[in-house]
Amino acid sequence: MNKPIIRNYSLIDLQQWLAQYNQPPFRAKQLFHWFWKKNIQSLTEITNLPKSALNQITEQITWDIINVSTIQQSSDGTIKAAFQLYDDCFVEGVIIPSSERNTACISTQVGCPVRCKFCATGNMGFLRNLNVGEIVDQVVWLNKISLTYFQKTLTNIVVMGMGEPFLNYDFTIRALKNITSSEGMNWSKQRITLSTVGIPDKIIQFADDNVGVQLAISLHAPFQEKREQLIPLAKKYLLNDVLNSLKHYVTKTNQEVTFEYLMLKEFNDTLTDAKELLRITSHLKSKINLIPYNAVDALPYQPSSEEKILAFYEFLRKRHVNVRIRKSRGQDIAAACGQLANKLFKK
Ligand code: SAH
Ligand code: SF4
Repeated sequence: MNKPIIRNYSLIDLQQWLAQYNQPPFRAKQLFHWFWKKNIQSLTEITNLPKSALNQITEQITWDIINVSTIQQSSDGTIKAAFQLYDDCFVEGVIIPSSERNTACISTQVGCPVRCKFCATGNMGFLRNLNVGEIVDQVVWLNKISLTYFQKTLTNIVVMGMGEPFLNYDFTIRALKNITSSEGMNWSKQRITLSTVGIPDKIIQFADDNVGVQLAISLHAPFQEKREQLIPLAKKYLLNDVLNSLKHYVTKTNQEVTFEYLMLKEFNDTLTDAKELLRITSHLKSKINLIPYNAVDALPYQPSSEEKILAFYEFLRKRHVNVRIRKSRGQDIAAACGQLANKLFKK
């Protein structure tokens, strides 16, 4: 039998697991502190457990720490790190520095099963979900890298790297809890944004679970038929149902939702699209991010022209939509949105 991945456990799971080795419940709290407050790399760093207890734990578990494999820096400062996982899979994380922010972009899956037609990650296929610790470790490492390269800590986190976080819901939410709780890394929820392709029941659960981090939705097309062409999963999760689940989210949490809209040449960049986008989003407390597309080799889509993007933007702005055009960073090292794909699989 495979040994359990101990950092996937909640505090209660951990207490129950320890009980079978006759270890007292308070030990779970001690371990939690070492895992999520101290972010230890090795169990040998634990100093306040009897040696016998520590040996017993060490023997019974899989320790799924991640390591930095390579670091690349773009001419615009953006950094991309490839992380090697305990089973020799790889994922990537990115740091996007700017004058007012220092944002980490983290992954939730090795590859992505959604296979959006425009996305390099989707094009690579899917290997497995990331564990709780593997998600948190990316923040820990990117923070260390940021200190080395920029002499400053991270200010924001976006869960917008490889993978669809709502297809790895439980571990992603548990990781976010460890990152934001006062027993963990104590990050402000306001400074974290999770992006999903749009899975209605998970959006509802996210609202009901009161996760509290910001939510962004990859909309990309305001018409059901067009959206299906881009996102295969959109056939199963209809646009209408996604919008209804967002209504629930906004009502329940009183938070606004961010719509991400990729600007794809001769596909979704006309004023007819802008008008429909306005119609379907205007009743929701929201903002819209227009994303210039980063072309990916072997994929059929091209970026919209600057004029088209500006016309689209102006149309929405004049109608009092909170809209902005997102700047693309790190393109020369394939660290921009949707370009993360490199070394996905075992060597
Ligand atoms: N799976 C989630 C989060 C990861 S993708 C999601 O799809 O929302 C993060 C964002 O990058 C999404 O909005 C996605 O649509 C966008 N993206 C993907 N490929 C891109 C590309 N080639 N150029 C620009 N943005 C891209
Ligand atoms: Fe997966 Fe998001 Fe890429 Fe679609 S855009 S394939 S959901 S990572």
